[in-house]
Amino acid sequence: MRFDILTIFPQAFDSYLKESILKRAQKNKLIEIHIHDIRDFSKDKHKKVDDVPFGGGTGMVMTPQPLYDSITFVKKKNKGPVIFLSPQGKIFTQSKAEKLSKKYDELILLCGRYEGIDQRIRDTLIDEEISIGNYVLTGGELPAMVTIDAISRLIPGVIGKEQSHIQDSFSKALKRKKEYPHYTRPKTFKGMKVPEILTSGHHEKIKKWRESKLK
Ligand code: SAM
Repeated sequence: MRFDILTIFPQAFDSYLKESILKRAQKNKLIEIHIHDIRDFSKDKHKKVDDVPFGGGTGMVMTPQPLYDSITFVKKKNKGPVIFLSPQGKIFTQSKAEKLSKKYDELILLCGRYEGIDQRIRDTLIDEEISIGNYVLTGGELPAMVTIDAISRLIPGVIGKEQSHIQDSFSKALKRKKEYPHYTRPKTFKGMKVPEILTSGHHEKIKKWRESKLK
């Protein structure tokens, strides 16, 4: 899967995407992440990317020119849909992550800032808007990372041999419910014991117990 991210804060992605599972997935060429600085496309002599809103009001709005040019540039390399991360978008869920990871090999993610982006860009260049929850963040960078993480771990090979995502919370296998509790060694910790059934070796009973704990 190829992801192209459009942002005015490219460095915000430095730590998270370069660690652990996502780092290994990139090294193994299971995912490719390209980050583009929208500011590089600004024709303003001070590389401005925002301006005051028509009609007045507080805050700034991302101007159409750098957005138009950066999106058009990326669309030549990436044929996937342009997704704008926005609190006004459709709420991102596990089944949405599954759909995106199955349907597409390429995705373009646009991160907003300030009060958001000029409506004309939303009307003409955005295919879909995704929200990561009903709250407002300062920018679309965290939502882009959340989206990439949730989609990438569903790509075969990304989380390794155990394929544990197949039985995660909200998966089809768990009937879209929340997962059962997990325990590991030691059997007793500060007087608290692991449920006996889990150490009984009765696979069928363990399966039933786990099913009974789904929420
Ligand atoms: N004025 C906008 C509104 O009321 O809908 C909020 C703008 S927010 C301060 C700046 C940017 O952060 C948005 O354009 C979007 O890219 C991103 N953002 C904030 N909250 C988000 C969320 N819950 N999901 C996805 N993106 C979000």
